[in-house]
Amino acid sequence: MTPSANPPSDAVQVLGACPHDCPDTCALLTTVEGGVARRVQGNPAHRHTDGALCTKVSRYPERTYHPERLLTPLRRGGPKGSGQFEPVSWDEALDDIAARLRAIAARDPQAILPYSYAGTMGLVQGDGMAARFFHRLGASLLDRTICASAGGEALVQTLGGKVGMKVEHFAESKLILVWGSNSIGSNLHFWRLAQKAKRDGARLVCIDPRRTETADKCHEHIALRPGTDAALALALMHELITHDWLDHDYLERHTLGWDALRERALQWPPERAAEICGVPVAQIRQLAHDYGTTKPAAIRLNYGMQRVRGGGNAVRAIACLPALVGAWRHRAGGLLLSASGYFPAQRAALQRPDLLAGRTPRTINMSTIGDALLSEASTGFGPKIEAVVVYNSNPVAVAPESAKVVQGFAREDLFTVVLEHFQTDTADYADYLLPATTQLEHWDIHASYGHTDVLLNRPAIAPVGQAKANSAVFRALAERMGFDEPCFADSDEAMCRQAFGDAVDFDTLLSQGFATLPVPDAPFADGGFPTPSGRCEFFSARLVAQGLDGLPDHLPNHEAAGSDPRHPLAMISPPARHFLNSTFVNVQSLRSVEGEPLLELHPDDAAPRGIDSGQMVRVFNARGEYRCKADVSTRARPGVVNGLGIWWRKLGPDGTNVNQLTSQRLTDLGRAPVFYDCLVEVERA
Ligand code: SF4
Repeated sequence: MTPSANPPSDAVQVLGACPHDCPDTCALLTTVEGGVARRVQGNPAHRHTDGALCTKVSRYPERTYHPERLLTPLRRGGPKGSGQFEPVSWDEALDDIAARLRAIAARDPQAILPYSYAGTMGLVQGDGMAARFFHRLGASLLDRTICASAGGEALVQTLGGKVGMKVEHFAESKLILVWGSNSIGSNLHFWRLAQKAKRDGARLVCIDPRRTETADKCHEHIALRPGTDAALALALMHELITHDWLDHDYLERHTLGWDALRERALQWPPERAAEICGVPVAQIRQLAHDYGTTKPAAIRLNYGMQRVRGGGNAVRAIACLPALVGAWRHRAGGLLLSASGYFPAQRAALQRPDLLAGRTPRTINMSTIGDALLSEASTGFGPKIEAVVVYNSNPVAVAPESAKVVQGFAREDLFTVVLEHFQTDTADYADYLLPATTQLEHWDIHASYGHTDVLLNRPAIAPVGQAKANSAVFRALAERMGFDEPCFADSDEAMCRQAFGDAVDFDTLLSQGFATLPVPDAPFADGGFPTPSGRCEFFSARLVAQGLDGLPDHLPNHEAAGSDPRHPLAMISPPARHFLNSTFVNVQSLRSVEGEPLLELHPDDAAPRGIDSGQMVRVFNARGEYRCKADVSTRARPGVVNGLGIWWRKLGPDGTNVNQLTSQRLTDLGRAPVFYDCLVEVERA
């Protein structure tokens, strides 16, 4: 492909930010020669990036100039879902899309649904101009739950927000629990800090059903069953209490509900938890001893473990632990799941909910998009969904219970617009497929959920082909719809300035590409949690007011191990190391490393089924079936299979992926999906 800009002669380096759904939010340096992006590197001046990118993003030019990149607007030219398209001009596409949306909105704008997630984490190309457009239209609201809302809600209820340790201080910890995180694959820059701590004598314990690459490098691996993390956390509390490894002063001054939590935890002796978690009693006792007696002790929690029925309660239970031992007193102690609550993003200025002008559209949960697209109009549901506009997301591949998602997107009476870089599984179902710019081609601004720096992304090259930024597409649609509020004329750079207002110095962002928020080193050393009580809330009156348990507890999976003899194996579907959700699956060099879709299963589960490594297997449950290759390996624990994802359906051997098997049931808190709460059976194909 020939990049579209004409060459100025000298090479320049342009400051940017990685847009992907990853806690590291790296600062990028793109070398541009003659209008062509030659190289993307980590910015060495940014301490969190430290000059290093993961393998995925260091190949960003390959993705940007990929031969299959969408370069022109396309209109469906074959049956729905066939992936057959014909080129069309931008004017023709936008005129027709605006006319179709206007006609639907005239009946009921709630019949139009935006569908987006973290294809870019940028605040402008994410839900900036798009949110303004859909608010002005009065479209259905989207409950963006697909990844993190169970854990996020749990943090809000316990710590008061998505707040925690500053990641840089993990380097000084003496005990690090890497809980539900394959950090080497999905939090590389944290892992570098953990490695430093290890060199300085820290003990690293990995808690994960899968023996990940990260588990290999820790001193110990606790391979618990999926969905049993709260039981483990409660048993740890039991041991901390019975051995008096408690910080009584911290409990007294900075927590709420200690007596009640103490009573709950005393119901969880290690023997009870060991039975549920499927791990030895001695391992739980040893972990509790280490956690209770090593200072400072830190927990790096990640979102995988909250993708089960009791995911919110599990995060609540784990988030209570640092307060029991007073770990928050030290900057290298405490817990980090997300730091995004520290960012003073001015979302109302960016997204302009005031454009709803008093209307209160219904909210559709993105995690149950399959059911939503198949719902008829009713009093409870509201109007049938007549149009979906998908941007920054690939729901046909990533949403649970794919058979229903596919059936929904295949509806002949559904008008679907997709903004994308590539012809993904979802793009195949589009009526209009619009070419989007990549991060190298547009302005954006980024918060992070893994550190506390704001990053600015400047365009390094001109848009490739006829690609347009998401903001430009929604601006153009707004104009055609006759939306004349001045905010629709804001430029992308102006929106970057609005994103944090005066809270972040924009000149600093322009000159160095990042700006550090003034977060204290040990934010809760003297309490001061952003909860209503100002304390770490073991007991949450807000949850009780919702009719929920005020204390964290272990909630068994919807599909608990042993509950269905026809489907005796639990399946989790963590990302393959070289993919990021469904992004990068089409980058040949990365797909070549991954090879093909794999199901890891333990030799004890493979042998009675006559399955050897390399054989095709059929993985199935009542929702569907999926074929892939078996990898008989102790990376899987007995009774649990690991379906590595998330492959594009059309690149898998039978045109499906693991989400053919996952369910649309939801978590206890946050209305989130339960991807890792899924029973299956496996047989030779
Ligand atoms: S480590 Fe994460 S933030 Fe950094 S380049 Fe890779 S995907 Fe982007």
